[in-house]
Amino acid sequence: MMRQYELVERVRRYNPQANEDLLNRAYVYAMKAHGAQTRASGDPYFSHPLEVAAILTDLGLDDATIVAAVLHDTIEDTGVTREEIDRVFSPEIGRLVDGLTKIKKLDLVSKRAEQAENFRKLLLAIADDVRVLLVKLADRLHNMRTLHFVPPEKRKRIAEETLDIYAPLAGRMGMQAMRDELEDLAFRHLTPEAAETIAARLDGLEKKNGPMIRRIEQELQQELKQRGIEAEVKGRRKKPYSVWRKMERKSLAFEQLSDIYGFRIVVPTVEDCYRVLGVVHTKWPTVPGRFKDYISTPKQNDYRSIHTTVVGPGHQRVELQIRSRDMNEIARLGIAAHALYKDSPVADVETLSKESGAYRWLQRTLELLAEGDSPEEFLEHTKLELFHDQVFCFTPKGRLIALPRRATPVDFAYAVHTRVGDSAVGAKVNGRIAPLLSELHNGDEVEIVCAEGQAPPAAWESLVVTGKARSAIRRATRDAVRAQYKGLGRQIVARAFERAGKPFSDDTLKPVLSRLARSSVEDIYAAVGRGEMFSGDVVKAVHPEFTDERKVQTGHNKKELGWFSLKRAQRLLFRSPDGRLPEKAVPIRGLRGDLPVSFAPNGGAVPGDRIVGIVTPGEGITIYPIQSPALSAFDNEPERWLDVRWNLEESGNDKFPAQIKVTAINEPGTLGTIATAIGDAGANIANIAFETNSPDFRDVVLDLEVSDLKQLTAVISQLKSKPVVSKVERING
Ligand code: MN
Repeated sequence: MMRQYELVERVRRYNPQANEDLLNRAYVYAMKAHGAQTRASGDPYFSHPLEVAAILTDLGLDDATIVAAVLHDTIEDTGVTREEIDRVFSPEIGRLVDGLTKIKKLDLVSKRAEQAENFRKLLLAIADDVRVLLVKLADRLHNMRTLHFVPPEKRKRIAEETLDIYAPLAGRMGMQAMRDELEDLAFRHLTPEAAETIAARLDGLEKKNGPMIRRIEQELQQELKQRGIEAEVKGRRKKPYSVWRKMERKSLAFEQLSDIYGFRIVVPTVEDCYRVLGVVHTKWPTVPGRFKDYISTPKQNDYRSIHTTVVGPGHQRVELQIRSRDMNEIARLGIAAHALYKDSPVADVETLSKESGAYRWLQRTLELLAEGDSPEEFLEHTKLELFHDQVFCFTPKGRLIALPRRATPVDFAYAVHTRVGDSAVGAKVNGRIAPLLSELHNGDEVEIVCAEGQAPPAAWESLVVTGKARSAIRRATRDAVRAQYKGLGRQIVARAFERAGKPFSDDTLKPVLSRLARSSVEDIYAAVGRGEMFSGDVVKAVHPEFTDERKVQTGHNKKELGWFSLKRAQRLLFRSPDGRLPEKAVPIRGLRGDLPVSFAPNGGAVPGDRIVGIVTPGEGITIYPIQSPALSAFDNEPERWLDVRWNLEESGNDKFPAQIKVTAINEPGTLGTIATAIGDAGANIANIAFETNSPDFRDVVLDLEVSDLKQLTAVISQLKSKPVVSKVERING
């Protein structure tokens, strides 16, 4: 426990004029008042107010504040009265302790209405004298530091309240160090596993990168020294909670975080800040979009600094904060840095509001309070202000949904419920129809219009801001694709069993899940549908004696294919088995004389295609569709290019060659289905070839004869509508 003289020493260090007698009297008075009381840790209770006072000496506060800290629990927990403190110390100190006593009763009530009322009282007490808040925050910080002695249930509530109210309030008041420590302690108690994991990984990185950090520090320091800038350079790693928040907000993995280290450069003057900026920007390339000048435009909590990120020594991304010493003090201490209380018996509110944006915020907030909102509304409103990196929106029924800035109605929908997000088709913001991907603002009332059987478009994934929405969209897209493959796969498997003459139902596959290394029957279907697993292997897993007689065959194949006889196919389908066009005038304008005309050997061309003729001396003219990749072979011979176009009046009932590739399930009847579809569309098949890679799927290359592009398109869409067909594409050789 801190000794009496130690307390005096601590204050003397920053305030040589400190009232030693006053401090000594407070020490003795509080020690006697708390007597034999103990804390949850078993320590004498008196150690607590002393530690709170010690925290405040780190902030360099005046005697009255330090004394109020030493006495802060006396009225509440001992027989001491306000009048007595007024008399023994001073009315100023009495008022501070009284304010702290009032807000002490506020802690840890679970009912929302009470919490709101308490928060109102807290702000009123602060408005009376900002020093009340400083003591309160120090009190909370010490309680958080010793939270592990408190029973677990109570612990969680204290940690939540800290994260909800006190840490943001400290941030709002510009007290960055206070806020960081409060957040980190609360994080450790609320999600211990996450906190431990991140801390361990940061430690690991420290071991690995420690020397590099020293090196960057030195290199920066040296560079600045050469330019005659006196600077203090310090590398620091981020706090586990801020790492965690970043991971959550951007849904990143730890490995993806690029800026776990930051470097702070502190210089004597504002001019030096910009000189440093000049030096680092000349020496190292900057990372775009990361430059922020909070010196010319300070944050609302008085924070000033220049932020920039460069690709520094060793190609490391280095995040830099450049600031003057004064700015550094303000960043650390916030509102406590304003020296107005020092050597002044009463808080100088006028100077404070002139010097501190944070204090002005407090005043504005209190004016709102005076306007007579209900305490609940007031709490909500103030929370909105406290969490300035969040937006708060409402459902039509009034439920509050907190979202990160730039959140969209899609994020909102997923925050309400995954089901709502998945089926969202439209949104109304404040009663008006709004795009699902517009930016939401504080206080918006959002109504999501849903339709059953919808799946979110995959493109949304990159446009939403919450991790929850992003992962849900990813899952829904994956599910939709999977469902497609599953249907196809089930069909293939069912027919494979049928072909093998074995009974089949979904349950048939359950006993062989592990043999096929899949965790569900659906997985098997999806794998077969994707072509990752062969249906024959699935049958074999259930019936080991089964052998699939189908073989993988490629190329033009005259042999029995197991599933269809090519000869039979030709007999049935080919109306011009030689594959040659009838000898007739080609209905193309722009041809030269009577040179023989042919169509592109791989892929052909049909009326409707934009075409070009290529002249081959001694052979003739070949007609290519303009999109044919083969044309690139003639890029350097412009003299061979011939401008031609279709003469549609003369085309009559002529047929033209085109080639398509159909990927279809390999089973009896498939070729029949394909042939029928082509016939139904009025086209002929001139030739057929198999380019196959799997027993379950066949790639069928078909040379067609069609009247024009319109008919070819009809053929392709007919084929695509068949369940056995998984893909159709036109070939342009
Ligand atoms: Mn206390």
